[in-house]
Amino acid sequence: MRHCLSEARSECADTTGCRSVYLTFDDGPSPLCTPDVLDVLAEHRVPATFCVIGAYAASQPKLIQRMIAEGHEVANHTMTHPDLSRCEPTEVKQEILTASRVIRMASP
Ligand SMILES: [Zn+2]
Repeated sequence: MRHCLSEARSECADTTGCRSVYLTFDDGPSPLCTPDVLDVLAEHRVPATFCVIGAYAASQPKLIQRMIAEGHEVANHTMTHPDLSRCEPTEVKQEILTASRVIRMASP
């Protein structure tokens, strides 16, 4: 039996002609909502990409580890989520590299 929770319109199709939807969740991890999101994704066996903020990842390493253990992608969404268009290049570099270091430290 096929379950369909929702329908999403997609203009893109892969080489087999199947349409795809990619789920991304930004600005976490949050101890308030990320566990619930992970529970729903696990229940439906759906992979997603979590674009995490380094400062939050540093305080929630268990959630980063859970994301990875459950097969999700973890992406760098800067250390403190500044408006990068207003940052100097050195600040942009620092935001990305610091977040990358923190995410790696939290990862198994
Ligand atoms: Zn964001």
